[in-house]
Amino acid sequence: MSLVSRIIRPVLKKLIPYQSARRTFSLSANSQNNTIWLNANERAQSDDYQLDTSLFNRYPDFQPDELIENYANYAGVNKEQVLATRGADEGIELLIRTFCQESPLRNSDSDTDSILINPPTYGMYAISAKTCGINVVEVPATKDLSLNTQGIIEQADKVKIVFICSPNNPTGNLISQSQIKEVLSAYQNKAILVCDEAYIEYCPEASQVDLLKQYSNLVILRTLSKAFGLAGLRCGFTLANEEIINALKKVIAPYPIPAPVAQVAIQALTQSGIQQMQKGVKETLQVRAQLIEKLQTYSFVETIFESQTNYVLARVKDKEKVFNALVNAKIYIRDQSKQISLDNCVRFTIGSQQEMNAVYAVLDNL
Ligand SMILES: *Cc1c(COP(=O)(O)O)cnc(C)c1O
Repeated sequence: MSLVSRIIRPVLKKLIPYQSARRTFSLSANSQNNTIWLNANERAQSDDYQLDTSLFNRYPDFQPDELIENYANYAGVNKEQVLATRGADEGIELLIRTFCQESPLRNSDSDTDSILINPPTYGMYAISAKTCGINVVEVPATKDLSLNTQGIIEQADKVKIVFICSPNNPTGNLISQSQIKEVLSAYQNKAILVCDEAYIEYCPEASQVDLLKQYSNLVILRTLSKAFGLAGLRCGFTLANEEIINALKKVIAPYPIPAPVAQVAIQALTQSGIQQMQKGVKETLQVRAQLIEKLQTYSFVETIFESQTNYVLARVKDKEKVFNALVNAKIYIRDQSKQISLDNCVRFTIGSQQEMNAVYAVLDNL
């Protein structure tokens, strides 16, 4: 047995890492040959930003003030309620590392804390929990893709964190505020409810941010990776009451936000940066309506899921055929068929008009 296999933490032995879109198909290996990326819900275009390198010899501020202020203003919260992280993904991991405890006894699950997820949903909640040795309780969504609130509430004494994704990835639907309030109330003083709003810019009126005043156990996750078009930057935000934010600050790295990241994010969060983002959202929603219309014309498309986001999930008759025809044209979409109740489902990110025309050209021929 190798040294690594003898000393690696037992929970990691069987763990399959998150199969991110970019691990599956690498950017650098495909950058020269006009590949069309519709598998990671990124924005189709990038914007220009200025960098000032004069202080790159210094460690950056722990939480750069202008960055926090700009995001607090954008989100409508106080600065004390904002933590900037390396993407929303780091927020997920910090929450788990801050509030969930692995059993001190070897090979014993009984004292280990749990998180709760509602599959089908974003994969990183479970992966992050597992890398920390934390249990994952699954309460699948109902048939209409809402929460099984009764099932969730039954677990109230057994879990530390409930992850709810709204709008949900990969299905695209919103979770109703009344359901979220029901869970928040049942879990008040028992556990934290995390509402992942990675796609909230596509339906800003559906944010739960106003509930932060009312519920001290609510946490909201945000990111610049999607509507702001800055997935390469790795910048996300956790919004919560000051006590939760301060607990997370005990765990986060000492210099979590690299100086160039802060500079670019500050520019993206100025008034003109936000207007630019909103213009992009408008265009995306138009192209989404067109994609849905187009999908409705294909006989091989069985179900089109309603979407409040920059992607559309569809159930097709011959998933392999659709997927492979697109791959042959160097168009990458995301196979979601392994998720619970999503058999034969594929997810299309809304790209530029030109990119979508290339998709239609392939699908028209099927
Ligand atoms: C993309 C995504 C994230 C991760 O965002 P990063 O800020 O890029 O880490 C988190 N949650 C959901 C639901 C996402 O789709």
